[in-house]
Amino acid sequence: MLKYYNYDIVFQEIPDEVTLAVNLTGCPVHCPGCHSPHLWEDIGEPLDEAVLRKMYADYPGEVTCICLMGGDGDPAAVKQLCSYIKEEMHLRSAWWSGRDDLPSADALDAFDYIKTGPYVASLGGLKSRTTNQHLYRVQAGSLEDITFRFWR
Ligand code: SF4
Repeated sequence: MLKYYNYDIVFQEIPDEVTLAVNLTGCPVHCPGCHSPHLWEDIGEPLDEAVLRKMYADYPGEVTCICLMGGDGDPAAVKQLCSYIKEEMHLRSAWWSGRDDLPSADALDAFDYIKTGPYVASLGGLKSRTTNQHLYRVQAGSLEDITFRFWR
């Protein structure tokens, strides 16, 4: 089961989208230097389709994308909710994973964007040209690496 700590509307995490970012708890990745170590704990409220709908209602007409930040402890639940975001809410779906692994080819349809990679302080986050992290746009089952959109 996924749980969330908080949520907010953000403008920079996904290029060209107004994103409702939902911070999930129970992160199993444990990156040294993590910006949010409280998200490692099994705390927060359960996240399901009805809760997502209530969050979305806080920003009527503004949000174009919902991004699940974390959820590496239950990737199947992330995929299920992202499918719901796309198919039932008719929004773009994004997953901000801390793992290097991508979903299997038959699971990619659930996502419009996937960010991969743990935080490595010496390499920097997505805004760093040396980063180990990637942001992919998913289109028709193929992946386009758009990490460069963060570099100025
Ligand atoms: S994946 Fe994100 S939340 Fe989890 S430990 Fe790494 S930086 Fe922190």
